[in-house]
Amino acid sequence: RCYSAKPVTGDTLVIDGPEAHHLLHVLRVQPGQSLVVFDGTGVEFACDVSECRRAEIELVVRSAEPVDRELPYSLELGVALPKGDRTRWIIEKCVELGVTKVTPLVTDYGDRKAKLESATKLQRHVIEASKQCGRNVLLGISRAVQFAEWVQESGEHPCLQLLAHPGGVALHRVKPTSQGPTRLAIGPEGGFSDVEVAQAQAANWQIVDLGPRILRIETAALKLVAAVAE
Ligand code: SAM
Repeated sequence: RCYSAKPVTGDTLVIDGPEAHHLLHVLRVQPGQSLVVFDGTGVEFACDVSECRRAEIELVVRSAEPVDRELPYSLELGVALPKGDRTRWIIEKCVELGVTKVTPLVTDYGDRKAKLESATKLQRHVIEASKQCGRNVLLGISRAVQFAEWVQESGEHPCLQLLAHPGGVALHRVKPTSQGPTRLAIGPEGGFSDVEVAQAQAANWQIVDLGPRILRIETAALKLVAAVAE
C-alpha cells in the first residue's frame, strides 16, 4: 500500500517524496509491479508501476473502489501527549482502532515545556499506520488546545463523553459502546486537576475509572479507546 498526498484523479499518477523513497529504495519496486494506492478519501486505487525515476514513480491506475474501514460514528481522543516514541505509539494505535481525531490537550499538570512533535512528523506516523492497517481515511490531528476550552466544545452533539480519572465510575458500568459521536479524554502524567474534573462534569462528561492500577498515558488511552471502538 502506498499513500498519495495528491488526490488521485486521472489514469496516471506520480508518487514522490518519502513515499517514493520508501518504494524505490526500501521495497525496490520495479515497473510492472502492482500497488494499492489510497489518497485519504476512502477510495483504493489498484495501480501498476509504469516507470521508476530517481526520486519518483509513475503509476497507471487500473481501477478505483471505495473501501470503508471507518467506525460508524466519529471518535475523538483528547490526550495530554507524552514525549517521543510514546506519542508515536498512541497515534499508531488510534489509527488502528479507528479514532477519527486526536487532540493534544494543554492541562494544568501537563509538562508545559514538552514540545509536541512537528505536524509533519505526526502526519508521517498516521500515514505509516494507515498503510499497515488498511485504513483509507486519515486520522486527523488537531492543534494543541487548552483543556478548559476543549471540554466545552460540543459542536457535533456527542452522545458519549468519557474522561478517565481514578475514582470515577467503573468503566464497565457506563456501557461504553457508542452509537454516535464520542469524545474521550486522558490526562497527563500528573493527572487531571480537581478543577478540570469539575469543568468536565459541568459540561456533561462522565468520569470513568479504568481499574485499580494507575496506567501510563498510552495504556490508559488504549484501554479507553478499545472499550468504545467496536
Ligand atoms: N497521578 C495521576 C492520577 O492519579 O491521576 C496519574 C495519571 S496517569 C499516569 C495519566 C492519565 O491516565 C490520567 O490522568 C487518567 O486520565 C488516565 N488513567 C490512568 N490510570 C487510570 C485509572 N486507573 N483510572 C482512570 N484513569 C486513569
